[in-house]
Parts: sequence; structure tokens; C-alpha cells
Amino acid sequence: MKLKIIKKIRLELKLALISAFSKIIIFFILLILLQQIIESQALRHADRDLLKMKDKTMSIVAKIGIKSFLNSEKDSSYASYNMLKDEYISIDLNPEKNAGLTIFSNEARVIENNEFNYRIIQYAFKSDGQYYLLEIGKNMQLIKALNRTLENVSVTIILLLLTITIIFDIGIYKYLLFPLNRKIIPKLKTITNPETYVYSELDSSTSDFVYLNNALNDLMHKVTTILKNQQRFTANVSHELFTPITIMQNKLENLLSSENLSEPMIEKVIDQQNHLNHLQQIIKALLLIARIENDQFVKTDNVKLMEVIDEIIENIEDRAEMKNITIENCIIPDAYVSNVNKSLLYILLFNLISNAIKYNHNGGWIKIISYKEDNQHYIEVKDNGIGIDSSHIHTIFDRFKRIDPLVGEGHGLGLSIVNAIVRFHNGSIEVESVKGIGSTFKVGIPLIFVN
Ligand code: ADP
Repeated sequence: MKLKIIKKIRLELKLALISAFSKIIIFFILLILLQQIIESQALRHADRDLLKMKDKTMSIVAKIGIKSFLNSEKDSSYASYNMLKDEYISIDLNPEKNAGLTIFSNEARVIENNEFNYRIIQYAFKSDGQYYLLEIGKNMQLIKALNRTLENVSVTIILLLLTITIIFDIGIYKYLLFPLNRKIIPKLKTITNPETYVYSELDSSTSDFVYLNNALNDLMHKVTTILKNQQRFTANVSHELFTPITIMQNKLENLLSSENLSEPMIEKVIDQQNHLNHLQQIIKALLLIARIENDQFVKTDNVKLMEVIDEIIENIEDRAEMKNITIENCIIPDAYVSNVNKSLLYILLFNLISNAIKYNHNGGWIKIISYKEDNQHYIEVKDNGIGIDSSHIHTIFDRFKRIDPLVGEGHGLGLSIVNAIVRFHNGSIEVESVKGIGSTFKVGIPLIFVN
């Protein structure tokens, strides 16, 4: 089984995440580079200090003579360090007997039985005919502490800059994507019917969004024209067919009433009558859909739902009884639907309840309930019938769609009519069904409750 792990996220968030991610990578590269730069700069700084100290010492030696440095006449060395052993100076005889050489190194020195790491400058010189070696050391701990301070300051500055630029980016993306998020997407979300689509112009300096909006407007215009033509065509064809079929049916009825008709002839005529009936029902259904889609009904009725359901149950009871099916009317007694067409609402609910009988087992049940949810009101027709396989659910509202032609009688137009009526009332319809368990058709239509 393929796992779907990539969640859909908004473009705005995606861009912000990509920008944050790339900046964090840059931040880490900068951090590594900075560490190296700071380390080498701190060392250079220390070397410069050591050189200055060496020059100062040498100028003192030149001024007051090497003798005044040495501990005594016999002792030809000198050593001095401060209390924390951060720095030390020593002068000793130079066994190499050379002069004028300056060397920098990192070495350990033992002072008062403690070992310390130092950055050291060594300078060989000659004074009073003797060769000496001047050594000045700076504790590495001191240099590293400076390193750390510099590193902390630069990391804080980079982090601050990183946060500011990420916040700035999010703001910019929000501003740039405003036409898409606030104008185009809300428009797309409200498309339930091409006829109610709002053909507004988009006022944006981003040409891509203007192009998208215009393309959307053009597309909706084309879809509406095609739909209208299709509706007109269906209405015209159905209308043209309806009259001759009615005439043919009348003729067949006249034929049946004639006395000199043989038994086989009567059978043939009845067979033809059945075919014509079938055709007539299809044409009636198509005509009804075409009339609903062409807005040939008014929506001015205020209907008490309970009464409509009671009326349907009364008219359909015989069919339910034949299959021993119980129908429960659980509609809230004071539930009213206003601004609807009563006949269409009757057909809508009749078709759903009729299907619930048709696709039910002997001894099954049907429940019709109403309730309020998220400021919307719903009517549900529930049954414990044969149910619908999940792979077929999205096709049941298509015209002439019958999942199993051998189960129940019909033309596959009942739910197309239901759908047309729901759309006509700007409502919604959802189906929940489990094969072998039952189905629930949930219709959302504005309701007014009178308490
Ligand atoms: P039909 O004339 O075949 O009843 P519909 O458009 O009313 O046409 O329904 C389309 C198909 O949806 C049906 O053929 C049936 O397979 C399925 N269907 C509709 N309602 C139910 C239901 N309550 N339970 C199970 N299947 C249903």
C-alpha cells in the first residue's frame, strides 16, 4: 500500500519554509567560516601584542642595560610573570649563540609546578658581548576566551539577522500572494454552479495573477455557454420527442380497445406500450431536469418539513409494506424550509426515500431526520439497505448511472433530479454508504426553526 505522507501546504508557507531552510544553511556555513576567521584574527592580534611587548622590552634593555635585568652577577637569567600566569617574560643565555631571529610558537611551560599553554615569541639578541634569548608568552586560555566572546557576539548578530529576514520574507510573500489568497482562491472555493460565478476583474500589479484570473473568467464563460447549450438541446429534444410518443401511446390504446385483435397481437401491443412508457418516463425526467436547470421554477414557498415527509410516506407506504420496511419520520416538528419550491422539494425527498426502499432488504428500516450543524440545517435519509461500494459513490449522481442494472427498477435519473433540485436551492448533498450496511443521503437546505 502506498502511504501518502506529503501533506498539502499553502504556497505562502512553502516559500517561507524554503527561504528559512536556505537561510539556516547559509547561517551554518557563515558560522564555520567565522569561527576560522575569528581564530586566525585572535592569533594575529596576540602576535602583534607579543611583538610590541618584545620591542618595549628591547628598548628598556637598550636604555638601562641587560645587567639591571639579571638577578645577580652570577645568575645570567631573568623571569617574571603576573599573578594569574596570563603572561610571562624571561631572558636567558642563548646556547645557539645567534642574534636578530624572531620565532612564534605554541608551547607548554611549567610555572610553579603548573603547566600552561602559551603563545610564545622568542627573540635572540646580543648584549654586553653575551648572547641572550628573550621569551614572552601569552596564555592560550586568554586568547581562547577572546575567541569565544567574539564568536558569541557574531552568532547573536547572525541569528538576529536571520530572524529579521525570515519575518521580512513571510511578510513579503503574504503581500505578493495577497491577490491569489484573498481574491482568486476564495472565488474558486465558491464555484458550485458556473451560473453563480462572479466575473470580477483582478486589480494586481502581478501579471501572472491577472492572467490566471482572466483565464478563469474565460473558462467559466465557456463552461456556462456549453452548459446552457446542452440544457437547451436536452429541453428541445425531450420536448420534440414527448408529443409523438404521447400520440403513439394513444394510438396503441385505441388499437387495444378494438375487438378483433388476436391474443399474440395484444401481447405485442402491450409490449410496445411498455417500451413507450419507459421512454416517456425518461423524457419526463430529462425535461424536468432541463426545466430546473433553466430556472423555470419559483422559490417562494415556506414548507413545514414534517408534513412533506408525512405526505411522501403516505404515498409510498404500499411499496414499503410490500418489502416489510419500516419508515420513521424523525423530523423536528417545527422545522420549516423557506424560499423553496414545494413540488421540487417533494420530488427530491420522494426520490431519496423511494431509493431507500428500492435498494433495501426485506424487513429493513428507513429513518428521516433533521438537525442543525454549523449554522446549516440538514435533512438525512438513512437506510440499512444494500449500500454502495466506495468506488461507485462519486458516479451515482451522473445521468443514466445505475450501479447494478439487475437490482431495482429505474433509469438512473432519480439522483440526477435530486442533484438538480439541490443546486437550484443553493444547497448541498453528501452520501455516506457502506456496502452491505446501508446508506445516508445528507441534504443541506436553509431551514428556519419556529419555536
Ligand atoms: P435509479 O433509477 O437506478 O434508482 P438513481 O439515480 O436514483 O437511479 O440512483 C442511481 C444509482 O445509485 C442506483 O442505480 C443505485 O445503484 C444507487 N443508489 C441510489 N440510492 C441508493 C440507496 N439508498 N442505497 C443503495 N444504492 C443506491
